Amino acid sequence: MRERTLGEARAVRPMYHTTKRVLVTGGAGFLGSYLCERLLEAGQEVICLDNFFTGSRKNVAHLLDDKRFELMRHDVTVPLYIECDEIYNLACPASPIHYQFDPVQTTKTSVHGAINMLGLARRVKAKIFQASTSEVYGDPTVHPQPEEYWGNVNPIGYRSCYDEGKRCAETLFFDYHRQHQMRIKVVRIFNTYGPRMHPNDGRVVSNFIVQALRGEDIAVYGEGSQTRSFCYVDDLIDGFVKMMDSADDITGPINLGNPGEFTIRELAELVIELTGSSSRIVTKPLPQDDPKQRRPDITKARQVLDWQPQVPLRQGLIKAIAYFDNLLKQG
Ligand code: NAD
Ligand code: UDP
Ligand code: UDP
Repeated sequence: MRERTLGEARAVRPMYHTTKRVLVTGGAGFLGSYLCERLLEAGQEVICLDNFFTGSRKNVAHLLDDKRFELMRHDVTVPLYIECDEIYNLACPASPIHYQFDPVQTTKTSVHGAINMLGLARRVKAKIFQASTSEVYGDPTVHPQPEEYWGNVNPIGYRSCYDEGKRCAETLFFDYHRQHQMRIKVVRIFNTYGPRMHPNDGRVVSNFIVQALRGEDIAVYGEGSQTRSFCYVDDLIDGFVKMMDSADDITGPINLGNPGEFTIRELAELVIELTGSSSRIVTKPLPQDDPKQRRPDITKARQVLDWQPQVPLRQGLIKAIAYFDNLLKQG
């Protein structure tokens, strides 16, 4: 009998194996850690893969004792040969200060990472989910943004490594789907926040809460008239799982986010109110290509996934504030 090639050498799993083995790349990050938790609760085996660039072992420390949980240090830009049934591909720094720190690596993570994870999914016939982003719409000229909108993205700016990397990853997902008949699930995530964000993550919600709790000035970039729509993490994770479990003909892209839209100044004022802080609002220069407005059209998610966010901003902020308050008190 001839030797099996690496491509054919898929582990044959015993018949009694009924739980799914799920790979979560970027699993030790903010969203990834919640997803790992949710999958374990649902009885799955989880392989959490991370290079710990922005994520941390701490985020998943409470899962390490679970026999169905495995933590693996690995970089998605390097090929990976394991066996699994489903892949959630979340690996990529999400905060502008972190993705702009080493922009070439950011593009590699999105593009080479997608190729490797798609190659892996193809070999083991796994279903594969991509954490895409509202950034594929760039500085949008259509408002709110439906999935049909192709976006307004600068290909050579400071945000391009992230925006174009994620756009290219979407292209790869759809080409693998068409060319290799793979089962893909692409969601476009709008700004999501919650407990377990890193206090130095650099994104607006964590920055404002930490500044307010410390009584420091709250730095609004530009006039603060730009808008964002903020989704609470639990709502988003519900959407992830619904998308992965949806029928095979549902590929996306599907927007996941909370359609409540706020100016950045309104967010600063709300954080001051909810923390009872004496912080003042100050302004700092607006970063280049900062999108002026952003709000998801979630008609598709409502119709196709029967999903919509449940947690209003005020309620979600109260939970996030309690988390950061506790964290800062621990020192
Ligand atoms: P995060 O920075 O907390 O998590 C990203 C994780 O990926 C980290 O644990 C990091 O160490 C890991 N990582 C980075 N590069 C890697 C590599 N080359 N190999 C392996 N691991 C790597 O950010 P997050 O908010 O949890 O975002 C998770 C995903 O969701 C990202 O793909 C991000 O682009 C996407 N997303 C998030 C938001 C949001 O608002 N949170 C919005 C849009 C899209
Ligand atoms: N790959 C991987 N794990 C696998 C199979 C593939 O990491 O189990 C990577 C490998 O780097 C390969 C890429 O995925 O180059 C794309 O795989 P594909 O089968 O699509 O194309 P190939 O490059 O092998 O022709
Ligand atoms: N922002 C701000 N102060 C901060 C961090 C961010 O005013 O400390 C602004 C930023 O310019 C942007 C919005 O808040 O208009 C959201 O920024 P974030 O980095 O959280 O996400 P993204 O720009 O990727 O949506």
